[in-house]
Amino acid sequence: MAETIFSKIIRREIPADILYEDEQCLAFRDVSPQAPVHVLVIPKEPIESLATAPAGSAALLGHLLLKAAQVARQEKLEGWRTVINTGAEAGQTVFHLHVHVIGGRPLAWPPG
Ligand code: AMP
Repeated sequence: MAETIFSKIIRREIPADILYEDEQCLAFRDVSPQAPVHVLVIPKEPIESLATAPAGSAALLGHLLLKAAQVARQEKLEGWRTVINTGAEAGQTVFHLHVHVIGGRPLAWPPG
């Protein structure tokens, strides 16, 4: 897949407010937060989107969700929303898979 800004964050070539890191993933604050807490959890492996996630990535995808919940708890959220935008039509702008963790205010449903 084409290189994205998230690869540069993983390599520490551009700054980010990193909250969590392990061998498989990185969590950092969104630069344009849509709520008081807005964190992105990304795999270090360059997967473009959920649509192209390899069949063998089930454990990694589960890991991302569990770490999203861990970050939400660290941020003292009682409720939060996890969002994975897949494809430009759904609002994906960075083509490196990421889980948004959004919370800290009431969230409307359905989303726009
Ligand atoms: P999406 O629209 O689902 O692809 O989400 C991409 C997210 O990445 C947006 O919420 C952006 O604000 C965020 N973003 C883009 N560049 C950066 C950056 N350098 N650091 C942190 N977040 C970023």
